[in-house]
Amino acid sequence: MIVLNAEILCVGTELLLGDVVNTNASDIARGLAHLGINVYHQAVVGDNPGRLADCLRESLSRSDLVLLTGGLGPTYDDLTKETVAAHFGRELVLDEESLQAIEGYYARTGRRMTDNNRKQAMMPRGCRILPNPNGTAPGCILEGEDGKTAILMPGPPREMRPMFDGPVTDYLMRRTHDGILVSRTINFFGIGESALEDQLRERMIASTNPTIAPYAKTSEVQLRVTARASDEAEGNRLIEPVVQEITAAFPEYVYGMDFHSINEAVVRRYTEAGKTLACAESCTGGLVAARLVEIAGASAVLHCGVVAYANQAKRELLGVREETLAGPGAVSRECALEMARGIRRLSKADVAVSTTGYAGPQGADGEPVGLVYVAAVGDGFEEVRELHLARGRADDREHIRFMASSHAFDLALRALRGQKC
Ligand code: ATP
Ligand code: MG
Repeated sequence: MIVLNAEILCVGTELLLGDVVNTNASDIARGLAHLGINVYHQAVVGDNPGRLADCLRESLSRSDLVLLTGGLGPTYDDLTKETVAAHFGRELVLDEESLQAIEGYYARTGRRMTDNNRKQAMMPRGCRILPNPNGTAPGCILEGEDGKTAILMPGPPREMRPMFDGPVTDYLMRRTHDGILVSRTINFFGIGESALEDQLRERMIASTNPTIAPYAKTSEVQLRVTARASDEAEGNRLIEPVVQEITAAFPEYVYGMDFHSINEAVVRRYTEAGKTLACAESCTGGLVAARLVEIAGASAVLHCGVVAYANQAKRELLGVREETLAGPGAVSRECALEMARGIRRLSKADVAVSTTGYAGPQGADGEPVGLVYVAAVGDGFEEVRELHLARGRADDREHIRFMASSHAFDLALRALRGQKC
């Protein structure tokens, strides 16, 4: 393992002014941590070649590697490439392949290419070019004779991210690792990234091989445990005890290993068990069914889904009792349970889940937005969960529906394990 020290330098006056949040720096920093590369400094500098040159000189004097974003575009204030090339004593030469790629990008997106776009195909002599399939400005890697390296990436995150995750990570992996990387992902639901990080901080800092890195996704968290090893077997030997330890520490929250999402876990686990699932949805409006169908192979698992929005539908399709609707109401524990029982009875599926709640923007009957009940019913298993999902944000409706569907999946997994919560 070769240890590298890196710095992140983001170029752009709009970052300095606070008009744009510097997400690139945090994305890159996380990625570097995952690769085991130390980051000791981050900086932001405006679109000013003199100050950029100063920053670059300082960074490269103390670190092996500087990753820069921004200022690769076609306009006069995009000067990152020129400034970095000058620092390395390289001239800019036209790269035909990049020019063709830029022309292709303009043709594909139906826009006219102007003359200054040629500037983006001018690359420092001897650099390694990083193609940009999501935009026009290619990135590049420049290695100096002294082994100091600058990596240039475009500013827009949707162009920077794939470049960093793809060719830059591959390059850094080759620079830092003698052996191979073996990794496993632990899937969590019901615990936030910061709570998880809080409890694992010491462990994460202390652990260098394997490394432990959290990734938050909408409604769930993944923890990736990565070992460097000479071969797969050794990698697994290093990873296994750490995975065991973490899994044992969070028995309530770990729903699986190596899944991309909790809906994928449901499809895989139910398929393995040869069990079927049905759903009765109110506030999620079909999202539970849709997220199952997203996963290839869902047909082996999903029996049917009913969207019963109106009280009449809940009563007539699912057999929710009149007293339930008149008493506790459509958004209640009782109603959620009766919806799940109803769809299970109709479908004869092994397990049935249901959702009912107020997705907003308004609550009703004096109940708040975000109050949701999710139920799961299986053989010898009945469980209802009361949720309060509102955050007071503009996109709450979408959030509430998505979270409610994820909770339905969590309950469905628990029903399969026969585990109450
Ligand atoms: P372009 O070809 O679009 O000009 P560029 O490489 O020259 O790309 P900039 O001009 O520096 O990049 O930035 C373009 C836009 O990308 C900015 O207006 C901003 O919205 C976004 N951006 C730039 N840097 C960052 C950053 N560090 N974090 C988040 N967003 C950024
Ligand atoms: Mg620009």
